[in-house]
Amino acid sequence: RKGNVIITGASSGLGLATAKALAETGKWNVIMACRNFLKAERAAKSVGISKENYSIMHLDLSSLESVRQFADAFKRSGRPLDALVCNAAIYLPTAKEPTFTAEGFELSVGTNHLGHFLLSRLLLDDMKNSDYPYKRFIIVGSITGNTNTLAGNVPPKANLGDLRGLAGGLNALNNSAMIDGGEFDGAKAYKDSKVCNMLTMQEFHKRFHEETGITFASLYPGCIATTGLFREHIPLFRLLFPPFQKYITKGYVSEEEAGKRLAQVVSDPSLSKSGVYWSWNTNSASFENQLSQEASDAEKARKLWEISEKLVGLA
Ligand code: NDP
Repeated sequence: RKGNVIITGASSGLGLATAKALAETGKWNVIMACRNFLKAERAAKSVGISKENYSIMHLDLSSLESVRQFADAFKRSGRPLDALVCNAAIYLPTAKEPTFTAEGFELSVGTNHLGHFLLSRLLLDDMKNSDYPYKRFIIVGSITGNTNTLAGNVPPKANLGDLRGLAGGLNALNNSAMIDGGEFDGAKAYKDSKVCNMLTMQEFHKRFHEETGITFASLYPGCIATTGLFREHIPLFRLLFPPFQKYITKGYVSEEEAGKRLAQVVSDPSLSKSGVYWSWNTNSASFENQLSQEASDAEKARKLWEISEKLVGLA
């Protein structure tokens, strides 16, 4: 049978390119989990994904209620789940004030981390029960959350501190909209959320890999400087960022190439190791990359897991 893969945020950028790459193999039913149905439908058509290889299901990660409804709807569909790709993200680098999810969490961490955390917890059993020859759960990471890299050292740097802001509910009323309890900074909130994604992947691996046989992985697909992720940035940045990445840092990859990379992590037999953060060198060969100290801190991963469980209502 064909494999079933859910990709969040498949209506643009990396998610769409990955949906296309997997759909084209003819071996996958791609479930595009998107907040905007019409946009997703148009996107799928625009890149030529054929009807029999995809479906669209509504998911708004900035509402835990929507995440629950999505998981219920998927379970009711009776389809097994063979791969889950947590890809959607928002980046609000110029925001002066925090904005919030339906449940009142700062929007970047609330969407990118907490929404995906609940989604993956709710769908874990479905993947565990699948009879597919291999099962994979992937959370898209980023170099920007990794302070052991040049890009990760551009201020403001990611730093979760002692997680006091998160423990306090991640809203400005009680405490702080930032995980570390500091002043709101939209660019840092995004980077923090990516550190959470990478820590979450490792904690999943630790808790569930042996028991379930699921491969847990994260990746940095390269700098896809042309995606919608930068839509909130100032116009000059949007103009200069792609050529800067292409010619100066040489970290630039096209959406198509990045989609192929993520599709490899979903289905390539040679990328089956669990607990790995994948990257690609300039010849597009994959390798197991090192995470920064914070993004591989086992104690922090455990604490993040426990606080997140409370915030999303699982504990
Ligand atoms: P895009 O902005 O093009 O895509 C983000 C996707 O997330 C869109 O489909 C968007 O939906 C969706 N999304 C945003 N908020 C929500 C929500 N509340 N509920 C459901 N879906 C939502 O960015 P990219 O393709 O660049 O980003 C994809 C991933 O790649 C992210 O995890 C990002 O961190 C990561 N990444 C990107 C890099 C880059 O250079 N671009 C580098 C490293 C990692 P909609 O279409 O409705 O807006």
